[in-house]
Amino acid sequence: MNDVHSLPVERHTIFQNSLMTALLDGIYDGEMTVSELLSHGNFGIGTFDALDGEMVIVDGTCYQLRGDGTARVADLKQRSPYAVTTNFVPRIVQEAPRGLTRAEISGIIDALLPSKNYMYALRIAGTFHDVTVRTVTKQRKPYRPMVEAVDSDSELHVTDTQGVIVGFRTPVYEKGISVPGCHVHFIDAARTCGGHVLDFTVDHASISICPGTDLQLRLPLTSDFSAANLDPHDLDQQLHATEVKD
Ligand SMILES: [Zn+2]
Repeated sequence: MNDVHSLPVERHTIFQNSLMTALLDGIYDGEMTVSELLSHGNFGIGTFDALDGEMVIVDGTCYQLRGDGTARVADLKQRSPYAVTTNFVPRIVQEAPRGLTRAEISGIIDALLPSKNYMYALRIAGTFHDVTVRTVTKQRKPYRPMVEAVDSDSELHVTDTQGVIVGFRTPVYEKGISVPGCHVHFIDAARTCGGHVLDFTVDHASISICPGTDLQLRLPLTSDFSAANLDPHDLDQQLHATEVKD
C-alpha cells in the first residue's frame, strides 16, 4: 500500500529548455525567446544568450542579472540557451529557522520532501543576513567551455537584504540534463541585484516547495546543439567547477 506522505499530491510539470551539458559545452546561443519561455511558467532560472547574466523568473516577470551587478526586466525578444521554469504552486510551506546557512537549509528542505525521487521548485522569500552570488559575464565567439567562461564571473556579497531565492532541487538521476541538487538564484526585493547563489544566511524567511512529477524537455534545433558533446568524461568536475565553486 502507498504511504501518501511519500508522494506528491498532484501531477505538476517542470519545463526545461536545452541541457546543462550543452551549456557546459559552450552552447551559449539559444533559439528560445523569453516570451516563449514565460508561456511555460511564472517561476524559474536560467541564463541568456552569450551567457549574458543570470536569469530569474519570479511572479511572471523575467529578470536579467548581469555581470556588472545590475538587474533589469528582460526584453521578451531576448533569447535563452538554458532555462528551467514552472507555474509555481506552494504546496509545502514552512518558516526557515533563523541564522541557518545554505547547507543547513538544504537539510531542512530535504526533510520536508515527500521523496528524493521527484523534482522540486523551491522559493525562499524574506530577509537574509547575507547572500553571496556570482554572475556569469557576456562571452564572445568563439565560445569557450563553461569551465573556462566562469573564470570571468563576478561575485557579489550583499548583507541585511530582503529578497527571494528561486530555483530547483533536482534528483541525481537528472545529472547532465540539469544540475543535481539545489540550484538557486537570488534577486533582491527592489529588483536591483542578484545572481546565482553560492551561499546565504537566513534572517526571517519562508520556504515554499512545489513538487514536480513531469518533465517537459525542449531541445534546441540548432547546428551548435546538434554537434555538441553532451557526454563529457569529467561531468562531475565540470558541474562542481561551474555551479558550486567552493
Ligand atoms: Zn545558476
